[in-house]
Amino acid sequence: MTELLYLQDSYLKEFEATITGVEGRLVALDKTAFYPSGGGQPCDFGSLVGEYTYKVLSVKKISGQVVHEVDKEGLKAGDKIKGRIDWERRYKLMRAHTASHILSEVLFRAEGCLCTGNQLDIGTCREDISIQELNEEKARGFIAETNKIISKDLPIAAQFMPTEEALKIPQVCKLAKGLPPGLKELRIVSIGDFDIQADGGTHVKQTSEIGEIKYIGTENKGKNNRRLYFSL
Ligand SMILES: [Zn+2]
Repeated sequence: MTELLYLQDSYLKEFEATITGVEGRLVALDKTAFYPSGGGQPCDFGSLVGEYTYKVLSVKKISGQVVHEVDKEGLKAGDKIKGRIDWERRYKLMRAHTASHILSEVLFRAEGCLCTGNQLDIGTCREDISIQELNEEKARGFIAETNKIISKDLPIAAQFMPTEEALKIPQVCKLAKGLPPGLKELRIVSIGDFDIQADGGTHVKQTSEIGEIKYIGTENKGKNNRRLYFSL
């Protein structure tokens, strides 16, 4: 199991770690601040620095272990490295992630709809929602409401909770498909007293860091499913 440093401190840009396994260009570490793709948040890029610098091209979580794909072979188990996150990219993704939680709650409060899928990006982000009709006017209204919440500069906090206890919180999961089964503990992310959601992603500390989000467009994704595009 890799220790996930980003869950404790999402602002960690550099860290030291020991390589626990290497397979070709795939490298596992005892701990990492690199976010592996998951929950709609793309993975981090950056570098692992040992004797030479290795670019990190992708990061995935495979049964509890975070695997870093680097640009060349040469690292070996037992090596000590310094990890560096491409912070500009990660920070944009953190801002987008917190924004998407606020948008989800705005949509839930207004229409009772759930999230059927989402993809964050450093450019355009999308949120798929279980709603029958979504015209431009309505969508722009949801974005405006999201910006109103952002401007309140609410603090964001995360804590682990036993799953049984966490599931007593109303609307702790806004995913239409529900939470993955078999989790003993859930990480709960709260945004002031506005929103609370089970989530394993990285978030900013205050909503003012997000700035404003912009309406980009909507798309019909079939019966009772609409896609809403936005950007930072
Ligand atoms: Zn999330």
